[in-house]
Amino acid sequence: MNGKGYGKYGVSFITPEQMELEIHSLLAEYSNQHGQILDPPIPIDEITEIYLELALEFVDTKKLFGVDGVFGALWVEEQRVGIDHSLEPESNPKMLGRYHFTLAHEVGHWRLHRRKFQKRVVTQPSLDGHLKIFGNQYRYSNSCRDVSVRLPQDSVALHAAVAARQFRSLSTDFVAKVFRTDDSLMTTCIEVDVSPYRQVVVNGWTLHVSERLIRSMVQARVSMLPRETGGVLLGSIDLARKLIYVVDSVSAPPDSQYSETSYLRGCEGLVESLEIIRLQTGGQLEYVGEWHSHPGASTRPSKHDGQLFAWLVQHRLMDGIPALMAIVGEDSSRWLVKQFSKSKEMKHG
Ligand SMILES: [Zn+2]
Repeated sequence: MNGKGYGKYGVSFITPEQMELEIHSLLAEYSNQHGQILDPPIPIDEITEIYLELALEFVDTKKLFGVDGVFGALWVEEQRVGIDHSLEPESNPKMLGRYHFTLAHEVGHWRLHRRKFQKRVVTQPSLDGHLKIFGNQYRYSNSCRDVSVRLPQDSVALHAAVAARQFRSLSTDFVAKVFRTDDSLMTTCIEVDVSPYRQVVVNGWTLHVSERLIRSMVQARVSMLPRETGGVLLGSIDLARKLIYVVDSVSAPPDSQYSETSYLRGCEGLVESLEIIRLQTGGQLEYVGEWHSHPGASTRPSKHDGQLFAWLVQHRLMDGIPALMAIVGEDSSRWLVKQFSKSKEMKHG
């Protein structure tokens, strides 16, 4: 396999040097939060459970998978690692080396491959296909948001009844529920994870930024210290009302480069991820801009940030869309829209 080769699961080939680099950065991230590792053994249990926050369990792999020779497994969506009973250190101290090796192996999968299996960045699994359009679309007037579809009368009546009952029992808390009906009119309720939004007006544009997104950028920043990190911002833009909704992000692609003074966003798999998100959300969520972190408290854009933003402005202007960039620092983030000089700072709060 060459350097650009892909395995059967679309996992890219990683050179021994890249792998070594990944190991060092994982250990550095851990040391940063939980103290320097001076000598072997590497505290792989702590790295797994405390730093990566994966649930560690002992399982019967033979029973689970029906084959011999499997000692570990990783369930990405559930953030869970399973190690075979036969390697449990307390009852099988002789197998300690094998136990450490197996656990480190699963941690390697988590670190290097989890993104390949975590495609549901925006929607919950139970909402898959919810925004897919069935039937012919047609226009009922001449505005840009007038595309509709025909709905059968029984569906309309059923959902009207469900909605009427729901309104009567609404609480004062924020809540979002989606009701889905199958072919036999069986209806299920899916509670949607909602997040409050923060507002900031930048250069005449009102940004609505998800607090959950802010938390996740802050977390990503801390986990990469002392280096910078970043990613791509997702949302939607309302040109008529000059609103930008910043909803979610796609984390740094695996070919991104991080240092203490710069972050170079890679592009491996990014187009595919954005396409999946577009399909999952019926075209409602798309690329809206870029974000990166600064290791210190200052969110003042560097010379390089200025160059990147100028490029972004030019690039987005061709489509008549404003450029958006965010810089996340220790206790605030800075938001730039369209014009470098008119950025606004927002406290994390
Ligand atoms: Zn910067």
